[in-house]
Amino acid sequence: MSDAAPRYAVFGHPVAHSLSPRIHRAFAAQFGGDIDYRPIDAPPQAFAAALAAFRAEGGVGANVTLPLKERAFAACAQVSDYAARSGVVNTLEALPGGGWRGHNTDGPGLVADLTARHGLDLRARDVLLLGAGGAAQGVAYALLDAGVRSLTLANRTPERADALADRIGQPGRVHVRYWADLGASGSYNLVINATAAGVTGGAIDLPFGILAPRGTGYDLSYAQAATGFLAWARAAGAEQALDGLGMLVEQAALAYAVWFGRRPESEPVYAALRADLDR
Ligand code: NAP
Repeated sequence: MSDAAPRYAVFGHPVAHSLSPRIHRAFAAQFGGDIDYRPIDAPPQAFAAALAAFRAEGGVGANVTLPLKERAFAACAQVSDYAARSGVVNTLEALPGGGWRGHNTDGPGLVADLTARHGLDLRARDVLLLGAGGAAQGVAYALLDAGVRSLTLANRTPERADALADRIGQPGRVHVRYWADLGASGSYNLVINATAAGVTGGAIDLPFGILAPRGTGYDLSYAQAATGFLAWARAAGAEQALDGLGMLVEQAALAYAVWFGRRPESEPVYAALRADLDR
């Protein structure tokens, strides 16, 4: 490793508009410091080389966003128990002797946002989770750990939802539905959009009947990327239509704690970002 100041980064593709640098700088400021934290755009096939170059330049901690979370898992010499279960990594911590330890803070971050910020009792929820990519894999286990009554998975490519359900291995509580059959699959009082449709510009076409009366719609994305799903949720009669800004801040706070051993306050950072988004 070089003698350069420790560096932190978020890897993704695309990543230029990530709010993570701003969030981590705000966390560092709470402790009277600063952090060298930058976005690094790496397509999947270039991720391993980009990560090695980052380490050589003093990189000691990183977040990983779409579509790189499975690659990040594969790049780790060690992983936390939660990351091992989910098979995806969103937080990398440099090991002293070389290599990386992988963590996944997405799931705990989502649960913290849903319960502590938005007051949901997850034990009373039948959840439909849309998507089976890195984010869905990262949050599914935390939802189950939080005690949701049932978890139904649906993905555009059904084999990935099947594979996730098989991996979880709780057939009594975890079910898979074909996307095209969702209209006939009953209703759910929490529908979570963990697809990248809003980011990639694709539209997702969902029947209104899948959201139960007084249900909650939650999109893991935020800003422009969440508008389509949240409009659907409101039109479907959702009591709450929530975006993933709070999850973003919570997963970042947990990552910061991995790197620095202390937990920043998420609420003021969330409030500032929310005010900007609403402007
Ligand atoms: P990913 O690994 O690339 O997976 C993408 C997922 O979206 C796959 O399930 C894919 O289905 C599905 N998808 C993509 N376009 C679609 C479309 N037009 N219609 C239906 N499904 C579509 O990405 P990811 O890491 O899971 O991220 C997913 C989303 O979660 C992104 O918007 C990301 O920004 C957000 N996220 C937010 C947070 C937060 O902190 N708020 C954290 C993590 C992720 P196929 O399998 O069929 O390709």
